[in-house]
Amino acid sequence: MAINYTEHFETRLRGIKEEGRYRVFATLERIAGRFPRAIYHAPDGSKKEVTIWCSNDYLGMGQHPKVLQAAHEALDNSGAGAGGTRNISGTTRYHVELEDSLADLHQKESALVFSSGYVANEGALSVLGKLLPDCVILSDSLNHASMIHGIKDSKQEKMIYRHNDVEHLEDLLKSIDSKRPKIIAFESVYSMEGDIAPVKEICDLADKYNALTYLDEVHGVGLYGQRGGGVAEECGQLDRVDVIEGTFGKAYGCMGGFITGDESIVDAVRSFAASFIFTTSLPPSVLAAAKASVEHLKVSDIERQKMRKNVKQFKSRLTDSGLPFMQGESHIVPLVVGEPNCCREVSDILMRDYDIYVQPINYPTVPKGTERLRLTASAAHSVEDVNHMADVLQDLWQSHHALRAVA
Ligand SMILES: *Cc1c(COP(=O)(O)O)cnc(C)c1O
Repeated sequence: MAINYTEHFETRLRGIKEEGRYRVFATLERIAGRFPRAIYHAPDGSKKEVTIWCSNDYLGMGQHPKVLQAAHEALDNSGAGAGGTRNISGTTRYHVELEDSLADLHQKESALVFSSGYVANEGALSVLGKLLPDCVILSDSLNHASMIHGIKDSKQEKMIYRHNDVEHLEDLLKSIDSKRPKIIAFESVYSMEGDIAPVKEICDLADKYNALTYLDEVHGVGLYGQRGGGVAEECGQLDRVDVIEGTFGKAYGCMGGFITGDESIVDAVRSFAASFIFTTSLPPSVLAAAKASVEHLKVSDIERQKMRKNVKQFKSRLTDSGLPFMQGESHIVPLVVGEPNCCREVSDILMRDYDIYVQPINYPTVPKGTERLRLTASAAHSVEDVNHMADVLQDLWQSHHALRAVA
């Protein structure tokens, strides 16, 4: 019997379609200078202007004049690509300058840039685990897929502690032979929950049980701390976290990932991480843009203040309307719908009737039954945008039976 490959793939796709978690991408054309507006290209070929409410470009840095100028200059100076891997002709002065700027951001000895935050987590955690014999990696239950894959790739023992639960973390640490190396891997701001980890308490435990700390600050860098160093900076713990990982793809408005830490750790990752070594390095234009963004946010607080004001106003309006959003301390506002098809329907209505784009977040990104709209009020939204969105959501929740049921 001949194997019917097509049928296998189609069956699997039908399965996720029936569960309501088939991903449909919205095609957007961002307009530099006009974010959060963008042109939406509908499947039927029609176009319209929409307002984005789910972007990670939290501070609008993706269109900041300094960032664009840096990208233009680097493109004109050095051309389109880096020309090689980091080891073979692909380390440019833009890489070195950006890494210096990042080490300074976190007050660490060294920094290393990767193609993305995903690759940074995957590469760094797998190497750190592999290089420490008989290591145990303690991982928060809601850690991002990139950390989970890095830990898996290290092939070391993994223990999962309940989300942000330091007592559970301590129970697990206690149970491990004190002679075994340990890494605690966690995030500062949890992207889908909008809550913030007890960074100090986790560092205290790391000291007590002699563990390394690995902190994903992807949703913290640029946004928290006096110079945008992240939550660890904001709570005075920068020097207590061994490895900080971040991205240029979110608040910095560009793309690429990085780690910072002691020279020995960063040099080990540089020397052993396959996903760092065997790939073409990022192009000068992207690196120059990222550096301009990082440097700007070290000294400018206006963008953070504007975003915070919008988030505060938005949360207060949702609270007044009694809408079921998750009450985290961060800038992210997850509004729970609790059912995948309904979640998609709300998103479709927002797009069709209100020209508002919010992607539905379904399993496996979040647990089943907690499907949600992950809303982000950015520095680029106006007060009118914020109030309009709050009005629209209030109307929708009042007029839709299914939504009232979960509220
Ligand atoms: C987005 C994200 C990443 C990956 O960063 P990219 O630069 O987009 O690859 C890592 N960790 C968390 C928590 C994220 O949300």
